[in-house]
Amino acid sequence: MNALPATADVLVAGAGPAGLALTATLRAKGVDAVLVDRLAEGQNTSRAAVVHAKTLEVLRELKVTDDLVSRGVIAPRFTVRERDRVLLTIDFDDLPTDFPYALMVPQNITEELLLARLEALGGSVLRPHELTSLRQDADGVTGVLADGHEIRAKYAVGADGMHSRVREELGIPFEGDTYAESFILADVRLDWDISHHEVMLYFSREGVTVVAPLPDGRHRIVATVAEAPEHPTVEDVQALLDTRGPRRHPARVSDMLWSSRFRVHHRLAARYREGRVFLAGDAAHVHSPAGGQGMNTGIQDAVDLGHRLAAVLADGASPDSLDAYEATRRPIAEEVVSFTDRMTRVATVGNPALRGVRNTFLRTLDWLPPVHRAMAMRISELGTTD
Ligand SMILES: Cc1cc2nc3c(=O)[nH]c(=O)nc-3n(C[C@H](O)[C@H](O)[C@H](O)COP(=O)(O)OP(=O)(O)OC[C@H]3O[C@@H](n4cnc5c(N)ncnc54)[C@H](O)[C@@H]3O)c2cc1C
Repeated sequence: MNALPATADVLVAGAGPAGLALTATLRAKGVDAVLVDRLAEGQNTSRAAVVHAKTLEVLRELKVTDDLVSRGVIAPRFTVRERDRVLLTIDFDDLPTDFPYALMVPQNITEELLLARLEALGGSVLRPHELTSLRQDADGVTGVLADGHEIRAKYAVGADGMHSRVREELGIPFEGDTYAESFILADVRLDWDISHHEVMLYFSREGVTVVAPLPDGRHRIVATVAEAPEHPTVEDVQALLDTRGPRRHPARVSDMLWSSRFRVHHRLAARYREGRVFLAGDAAHVHSPAGGQGMNTGIQDAVDLGHRLAAVLADGASPDSLDAYEATRRPIAEEVVSFTDRMTRVATVGNPALRGVRNTFLRTLDWLPPVHRAMAMRISELGTTD
């Protein structure tokens, strides 16, 4: 186990995708960044399964992108369906990027590659060390760990997830709400004669269901339900596909590889900065997984903040320039929160007349290439400026 230092340029709490990407970005620029996590080891579970084009672009400087692409499944097409009908098709393949697709890859692989890069840069995750409190003054910030050890840093970042201790310590409100429904997540094997390169979003009165390809012939199923079982079974997922999925070529679930449930909130931190302390990733924003944007937005926050802190710490930029982090990243998260919220509500319309109007509207949009492009730009997060 690596010894805990007494000082650092930047103390980062939380070694999820955001904390790993931030610490690697800082170390790549010669900044002494220290990363602590309260868990004895990484979570190593599937969770967020899509990496979008913008994130692949952003991670290129960390030399993570090529490995990620080689470990994932390329999905150049996204369709919105109701049973056997395709309501809307969004192709990513003419997007202005070197990565014109959604890359399907489980979160544990994304974290594994970010960690490998951090270690190649001489960094590590110091575990299990929970940050329990923070004090700051004009010259720096002191992070106190559960065992009483203190780390004095010039800046600190809470990348410590939705229930962020750092956000709580700073007294920053996490504004928003919790959806009534919960989500079933499952990585399964399917007997189904379908393309392995398409992400499908099924609309139904009962809830939204995503069917997406994963490496090794697996599929990820994500579905909103009134109350998800703690450990969704093959039968649970089969019932979802039977009631919401295709009828003409029904899908058979042959194997369950991983399953979980989670309750989704749509919340945004009122501020991303308090003095010398910043928030990134789920600590700053959480939203519906529709569109798979949570982890992506968090990684992009992290790299953005890493650049800005390195500019101050390594290149002598004014500390005032750090205000641009919140000014740049918070509106992006605000838009993601409201876009995913709108998508979730449209997808679960219950009234049959309104559903008919929605479907007709979507099929009309399907004839309009500029609409496709706008949707593809938004989902891939390429439309965001930074
Ligand atoms: C079951 C599940 C399924 C999900 N599925 C999807 C999905 O399909 N699509 C999608 O987009 N998103 C999904 N998500 C959300 C996605 O996993 C998150 O958006 C992403 O992990 C956020 O990354 P992060 O680095 O901000 O935070 P996290 O990954 O939450 O990492 C935070 C880290 O901080 C550590 N930590 C917490 N408190 C402290 C402390 N006080 N001191 C030190 N360390 C601390 C934790 O141990 C953790 O390692 C899912 C989440 C879960 C739980």
